[in-house]
Amino acid sequence: MYTEDDLLMLSALQHLLFCPRQCALIHLEQAWTENRFTAEGRVLHERVHTAATDSRCTVRVEYDMPLRSLRLGLSGRADIVEMHQQEDSSWLPFPVEYKRGRPKKDDTDRVQLCAQALCLEEMLDCTVPEGALYYGQKNRRTPVQFDDRLRRVTEEAAGRLHELLSGTVTPAPEYSRRCESCSFIDTCLPRTAGKKNQVRNYMTRMTQS
Ligand code: SF4
Repeated sequence: MYTEDDLLMLSALQHLLFCPRQCALIHLEQAWTENRFTAEGRVLHERVHTAATDSRCTVRVEYDMPLRSLRLGLSGRADIVEMHQQEDSSWLPFPVEYKRGRPKKDDTDRVQLCAQALCLEEMLDCTVPEGALYYGQKNRRTPVQFDDRLRRVTEEAAGRLHELLSGTVTPAPEYSRRCESCSFIDTCLPRTAGKKNQVRNYMTRMTQS
């Protein structure tokens, strides 16, 4: 169990899964740089975060809901949590996260949503079986099941996030296709720095052998 002082931002999980260096630049070095993708994402979230509640018969909607898990050491906010009334009159949380763009093949968005579900389970002492991601370009919801695999990946990512952010070392850049959509590409220079690292590693190996 973590304490309140140990809590990390839940949104950092997606930065970690996208690129550990990007995660360290944002959350260790407090560097932030915006590009078209981050600006569109920010505007989308500002529209969703109207900080209000909405009630429709058997569905209650909470906007911008605060979340916390001492087990995972995370805190953050959910864009939307729908509370679905069950036959026994209890309320089942159903988190919905808004994303710009299209559904991704990787787990990045699903892990962030699953972390929200794990927070809700701990806070409300319940089980949250599913939620949804709403993608702007598709203009529709993609359902997400919080199965054992996704829960395990999310818990492992939370552990790695604490490991990374409890240190002081920002990982070295490594170029890959994801760099082309990263807001840090002009300052990180992963193509150049990656080559420098290869040369440095080669020289180290040669001088040690
Ligand atoms: S440019 Fe590439 S290596 Fe650098 S922070 Fe972004 S994704 Fe990571």
